[in-house]
Amino acid sequence: MKALLCYNEKDFRIEEIEKPGISDDEMLIELLYCGLCGSDIVRIFSTKGKPSVYGHEVVGKVVEAGSGVKKFKKGDIVVAAHHIPCGKCHYCKHGSHTMCEMFKSTNIYPGGFCQYIKLSSDHIKNTTYKLPEGSNPLEALFVEPLACCIRAMDRIPYIEGDVFSIVGAGAIGILFLKLIKLAGLKAVVIDMDTERLKMAREFGADHTINPSEDDLLTEIKKIAPIGIDSAVLTVTNKFTVKDALSYMRPGGQINIFGMGLDADLIPVDFNRIYKGELTIRSTYSATPDTVARSYDLIIKDRKIDVSALLSEVLHLSDFKKGLDLMLDRKIYKAFYKL
Ligand SMILES: [Zn+2]
Ligand SMILES: [Zn+2]
Repeated sequence: MKALLCYNEKDFRIEEIEKPGISDDEMLIELLYCGLCGSDIVRIFSTKGKPSVYGHEVVGKVVEAGSGVKKFKKGDIVVAAHHIPCGKCHYCKHGSHTMCEMFKSTNIYPGGFCQYIKLSSDHIKNTTYKLPEGSNPLEALFVEPLACCIRAMDRIPYIEGDVFSIVGAGAIGILFLKLIKLAGLKAVVIDMDTERLKMAREFGADHTINPSEDDLLTEIKKIAPIGIDSAVLTVTNKFTVKDALSYMRPGGQINIFGMGLDADLIPVDFNRIYKGELTIRSTYSATPDTVARSYDLIIKDRKIDVSALLSEVLHLSDFKKGLDLMLDRKIYKAFYKL
């Protein structure tokens, strides 16, 4: 079967690799579409683990189902998320499901950017959903990313009237914006890209700030005189963390969501955290529960509309083109087919 192998950030090759076999409780899907995630991009640029098949935001058609698979049948179009926690270990009992050993070791095989993908019985039971007739499979590619955002929102305590800052107006920033507005809260979107801020306003942002044009602290003070209640950093680097530490209200929460570069360190004034009772937390990835809720929000109940985040579907042989369009912020997400 065909798979896209990444040798380095400039070298992507479609190669022939062995098609995965399945056992009685597993199934094989044929790729329809796979989305390119920011975390894939970080891995593409990393020097570790090459060559690799990346991609985990997948929609496919069931082409083989083991005799023990009752939930799905051949021909079904399904969306699947890639990691599953055990639900029983010390981490899971603490709600840190994404730190679970099983969570980290489970994955779709061999990856999303290939012709056929094997889903294990755990995937089938916990993180795979059939798309109803008439739904747009491209929209389903946002089920896994939105599930990660829902998990982050679950871990942030908020009350009516809270003001959130969303740092980064990319696809994840927009998904957070939609969740924050759905919860009836106020959102200030911060980005250096004027075009993206304009889009964020169209998506419902109450305020937008471009720190390359206006003084961030002055603008925040006008919107939230005591400071921001919760910051969601979809872009994590020494600048965004430092900024957030400066504009939080006493008792505020900084939520690190985006994967940062290795060894991007900042000096931290501990007294600012101590005297201001600031919390810095992070959330990584999604759980079966948030995947289920995300599926409902996007596909079943259609409460979150992601149609404006879609763009032209590219063939996997044009992988670099999609990657560049995403890096140049011309599209929110690259969508591929084979
Ligand atoms: Zn993702
Ligand atoms: Zn566990």
